[in-house]
Amino acid sequence: MSLDLWSEAVASIEPHVKPAQRDLWLRPIVCLGVADGRVRLRAPNRHHKEWFEDNFLPSILSAFEARANARFAVDIEVQEDPPPSTDISGGSVAAASRPSAVSFSAGRREPELVPRYTFDKFVVGPTNQFAHAAARMVADEPASKWNPLFIYGGVGLGKTHLLQAIGHEIGRRHPDWSVTFVTCERFVTDFIGSMMNQKRQGSGGTLLMDDFRARYRDRPDILLIDDVQFLSHKDSSQDEFFHTFNALHYAHKQIVLTSDKLPQELPGIEDRLRSRFTWGLIAEIESPDLETRVAILKRKAETERISLPDDVALYIGAHMKSNVRELEGALLRLAARASFQSLPITIELARDALQKLLTTSMTGLTVETIQREVAGYFDVKLHDLKGPRRHRAVAHPRMIAMYLARRLTSMSFPEIGNRFGGKDHSTVISAVRKIERLCAEDPTVRSVVSTIESHLRQP
Ligand code: ADP
Ligand code: MG
Repeated sequence: MSLDLWSEAVASIEPHVKPAQRDLWLRPIVCLGVADGRVRLRAPNRHHKEWFEDNFLPSILSAFEARANARFAVDIEVQEDPPPSTDISGGSVAAASRPSAVSFSAGRREPELVPRYTFDKFVVGPTNQFAHAAARMVADEPASKWNPLFIYGGVGLGKTHLLQAIGHEIGRRHPDWSVTFVTCERFVTDFIGSMMNQKRQGSGGTLLMDDFRARYRDRPDILLIDDVQFLSHKDSSQDEFFHTFNALHYAHKQIVLTSDKLPQELPGIEDRLRSRFTWGLIAEIESPDLETRVAILKRKAETERISLPDDVALYIGAHMKSNVRELEGALLRLAARASFQSLPITIELARDALQKLLTTSMTGLTVETIQREVAGYFDVKLHDLKGPRRHRAVAHPRMIAMYLARRLTSMSFPEIGNRFGGKDHSTVISAVRKIERLCAEDPTVRSVVSTIESHLRQP
């Protein structure tokens, strides 16, 4: 029933969409279900998802909500995303001799590392060369010198890529080793799940503490754990991780960690764990310089078979400075635009296709700056602006802040939602729509928004 409404909503916007765009962008989005006020969709990849969210979702969603006469949140899963936990132990022999580990993963999809996160696809430049060299050394001689290796740096700079490259390389050299890659979030979920199952033991087929420990303490020959900042303020998980760490370290098993901050800057981490993070080698990844950005673009274009002229690579590289993920996103966006308009990739097309992203990098504004400015203007607490309160006195400024974040930064709806205390992206979408409408209808709102915007744009 609701599925039909969704199809109708999609069909209702199709006449406004070029046939090529419709086939390329709209058709591959699958609706998995509608229930409990949420629509579940699946997109073939992340860029597709973002493109869909930016260009089609708002109108489809409003058509759908009008038909269903209710508000909905939208979850879009991405087909190609690697599942959070991976075991790439190549040897089935090794796996068979460890029955507990096998029973542990029963019922889960057997996941893999992202195939392209290898060393040969990683472009080395001055800002990542130390981290890259450290990762290579650890892959060459695990647990010989630096244990743990702690890689840290900002979002989208290649931490996960390097971490998995170590996994690929060790898997290649030692096919019988058990290489365990796991996001820290997964570690915590597994731990909490196994503790709960332990309490109501007997509920068949569950993951128990022994299985958990076999998986993380006994089984790995190398443990790759992504985004350890996730342990902040999670005391019991930290405690468990402390013992996991000790067991592996004592057994001379290599541990590699990534984080968005230095150990000493991680909030809410016990000292004993913090100090262990610093036992081995700490390597930082920083934003790439222009030359590296251009090299990354060219490498990416090559693998994606996109014909990217040098001047356009330089143009994108010169304008998109913050992180590699955005750089890649810009290239794919541009290539998609070129392909469905059947145009060659030129600077003019790049300027046009990337306009929104480029203004952003030129304003250099962050969501935090915008939030602070808006909070100051309306005299509300920053904390409330990001919080859940629905009172108009904070809800209205919040919507304006979301709207400005969307206009003045290159963040996607879900990313903006995250910066507002983890709100759903559909909340952001409707805030943006609402302020757009108010700006059109109400001169007061329009002038407030443009005043704040002009403050923000002042150097
Ligand atoms: P992080 O984990 O630091 O947030 P990721 O490892 O997920 O970042 O990297 C984001 C994207 O950028 C990935 O697609 C990755 O392949 C790519 N990337 C990052 N650094 C490089 C690099 N030096 N060379 C090639 N691709 C890179
Ligand atoms: Mg990462």
